[in-house]
Amino acid sequence: MKIVPISLPTPFYIGPVNVYLIPEEPVTLIDTGPKTKEAVDTLRAALRNEGLSVADIRRIVLTHAHEDHCGLARALRDEAKDAEVLVHGWETGHRAGRLEYDETRQLLVRAGVPPDEVEVMRKMYEGVRQYADSLDDGQCGELTDEAELEFGSGALQVVHTPGHTPGSCSFIRHADRTLIAGDCVLKRITPNPILSPDPIDRSRRFRSLEEYLVSLARVRALAPTLVLGGHDRQSQIIRLVPTNGASAWEVSRAMFPGTDDVHRFLGVSEAVAHLDYAHSEGKLSLEINDGRDVYRKIS
Ligand SMILES: [Zn+2]
Ligand SMILES: [Zn+2]
Repeated sequence: MKIVPISLPTPFYIGPVNVYLIPEEPVTLIDTGPKTKEAVDTLRAALRNEGLSVADIRRIVLTHAHEDHCGLARALRDEAKDAEVLVHGWETGHRAGRLEYDETRQLLVRAGVPPDEVEVMRKMYEGVRQYADSLDDGQCGELTDEAELEFGSGALQVVHTPGHTPGSCSFIRHADRTLIAGDCVLKRITPNPILSPDPIDRSRRFRSLEEYLVSLARVRALAPTLVLGGHDRQSQIIRLVPTNGASAWEVSRAMFPGTDDVHRFLGVSEAVAHLDYAHSEGKLSLEINDGRDVYRKIS
């Protein structure tokens, strides 16, 4: 059973998103990318590489309902005619951390965010909504923990891994312990345990970090040999280094253009750490120029 990673562009801070295609019957796409022309064009090209088109997709499985992962789900389902969309019940309604919902705004108020800040956040969030169709139409199938997604030559088992969002799911192929982890386990980034209402009692906060730590312990016990994540900051950072070289500061400003005060320090810290790592892995060169460390792509 082949798993084909496809990197799709996103308009978000996080950079590209990885979705995964299983190009055998029933042809399955795990995550879809955001609803942008760039993402859908890249996806179509990747399907063509496998001799497939959107019409061949039978199953769209979502790790969670964030725009970069689920944005195209409804459009692809409609185009593929009889494809089904599967998502965990705690994600349906597309409600995890959604600021258009009063219950999420209440959590911000309780966290002490001043009301005008809440309003600014809600407005910013409206801009994000355009990158995903809502999945509120009651036409999604439900992913349940330990369910098997069968294929002709193998299977993936659903592992409910709440934390980043309440309904986040990962998928393990037991044959070689390959784990498709969405945003649950990210290579060299820690996922944000997003502020969300508890799916059982929506007036309460979801204990996202506690849940996340339990999920990580569970994932560790599965002893995956390969983890396929939703994002990879390492390759994003290498792409941001121009051919004529850049300092960590320049890379951090390209990576986090809108940040202010303390986040600028955090941004440059993250850039230095990743650039040094890429350098020691032989992916970037490093020289000191006028007392500044300059990283260059090795061509
Ligand atoms: Zn996410
Ligand atoms: Zn993501």
